[in-house]
Amino acid sequence: MSAYRGRFAPSPTGPLHFGSLIAALASFLDARAAGGEWIVRIEDVDESRTVPGAGDAILRQLEAFGFEWDGAVAWQSRRTHLYEAALARLRAQGLIYRCRCSRREIADSALHGVEGAIYPGTCRALGVDPSTPGADRLLVAGATLAFDDRVQGRISQDVTREIGDFVLKRRDALHAYQLAVVVDDADQGITDVVRGADLLHSTPRQVLLQRLLGFATLRYLYFPVATHESGEKLSKQTLAAAADDREAVALLGAGLRFLGQEAPDAAAPREILRHAIAGWSPDAIPRRTELAVGAASAGNRGV
Ligand code: GLU
Repeated sequence: MSAYRGRFAPSPTGPLHFGSLIAALASFLDARAAGGEWIVRIEDVDESRTVPGAGDAILRQLEAFGFEWDGAVAWQSRRTHLYEAALARLRAQGLIYRCRCSRREIADSALHGVEGAIYPGTCRALGVDPSTPGADRLLVAGATLAFDDRVQGRISQDVTREIGDFVLKRRDALHAYQLAVVVDDADQGITDVVRGADLLHSTPRQVLLQRLLGFATLRYLYFPVATHESGEKLSKQTLAAAADDREAVALLGAGLRFLGQEAPDAAAPREILRHAIAGWSPDAIPRRTELAVGAASAGNRGV
């Protein structure tokens, strides 16, 4: 096994909540159990969604929950030159075109796939002048991509048919998550991505970009996304409560149980994490893409 370097990459759209705490926990434990490094990257590339102060609040919460990361925290908003350079490399290969379609036009003319509208390729052959307002899309050709996830098994996707040419730089000039994450993972020497299965369908796009940019493909581990009993994802959008420092011990225990791990009987966050690293068992993570929090805490894997 090559040296392990993992990451936790929250978007600063609000404080850490139970769902993102699980992402921190799983990525941290997998890295430390492998004797690897674990870095934190604040994914504030989408300035329109960034909440001022949320990135710092997340870092304070991570500290209060006993997490220790390696090196300096990276902020995507300070790394846009790297995304622009990668885009220029793809453009030089003739793989980028300007798309002037509005969201409404795409929604009206497109089929709908796993991630919403499949771009029908309207602007692909139009040679729209790059000075025209619009988005930069990647020309996706004949790309069925497959990868083996450590929990979910083999995942394959025909990116052309299921996603279509996707946006790398938005109409508002912000770089897209798919581009930023691939560039950062490569630039930061990441070997392993451990994150929630809501991003499972993004991986083939990321693997495709890695290949086109000459980057190594990473190892992936997707754990189930925490949902409410109703099946709704626990996210900042559904106003999941901020993970309260005073509840750190209980929340770490619940997070470990959610991941199918034993929750050590310890009184301090760092001690819990130390035991959890020693006991980390990725094979015990429920092999599903969604799991209700109540079911996990009750010890019911719901498989
Ligand atoms: N920033 C993304 C999020 O908070 C995670 C991206 C990733 O782990 O690749 O949902």
